[in-house]
Amino acid sequence: MHTSALVLFSGGQDSTTCLAYALTRYARVETLAFDYGQRHRVELDARLAVRAALGQQFPQWRQRLGEDHLLDLSVLGAISDTSLTRDTAFQMEASGLPNTFVPGRNLMFLTLAAALAYRRGIDVIVTGVCETDYSGYPDCRDDTMKAMQVALSLGMERRVLIETPLMWIDKAATWELAQDLGGQPLVDLIVEHTHTCYLGERSQRHAWGYGCGQCAACVLRAKGYAGFSDKLKRAAAPSA
Ligand code: ZN
Repeated sequence: MHTSALVLFSGGQDSTTCLAYALTRYARVETLAFDYGQRHRVELDARLAVRAALGQQFPQWRQRLGEDHLLDLSVLGAISDTSLTRDTAFQMEASGLPNTFVPGRNLMFLTLAAALAYRRGIDVIVTGVCETDYSGYPDCRDDTMKAMQVALSLGMERRVLIETPLMWIDKAATWELAQDLGGQPLVDLIVEHTHTCYLGERSQRHAWGYGCGQCAACVLRAKGYAGFSDKLKRAAAPSA
């Protein structure tokens, strides 16, 4: 019987949905993020705003929401040259991967998360990786997660469970999941407080939230929200 979870929580739509998912299931939920010289501190600010808003608007979750952890991973910036850690534009590389790809990043995240979870007496790690709707990051794949679960469990001599609630759903279904978990208030909170845009843009407000509206992350988020809204409208329309 699992009672506590550590959520990899970046302050984006996906990880916020995962945090809500964990808060509905576990009595104690802690959050973890990594600071690796992200070009935009706005991401790290967003996660604090999301945590505060969740506590204010969902009293049933407030007492479950435990410590927040921020680990310095600036070493990632030293060994990789990507548009997330340097001031270069987002683009697709010849390998077919976007230049936001940091080789092995999720493997490192999970290893550190498991070490922290071990120390905190937590045996479930929740992460918002997804194989369906992404740019094919190989370290987000289901098989990668399962292999990491086995490696970490063996290497730490303790069962580590990696939960991936978004693995097989698309962005529209991620909005739907948020609605199932926390109703319209959670959808509104995600729109208002989470941050996804690669460019760190927060001066333009769209129906789906803040962002430049042009980068790959914004396009994906907007498309998902449109699919979600259409479905809601169809459900509300009287049948002919
Ligand atoms: Zn954007």
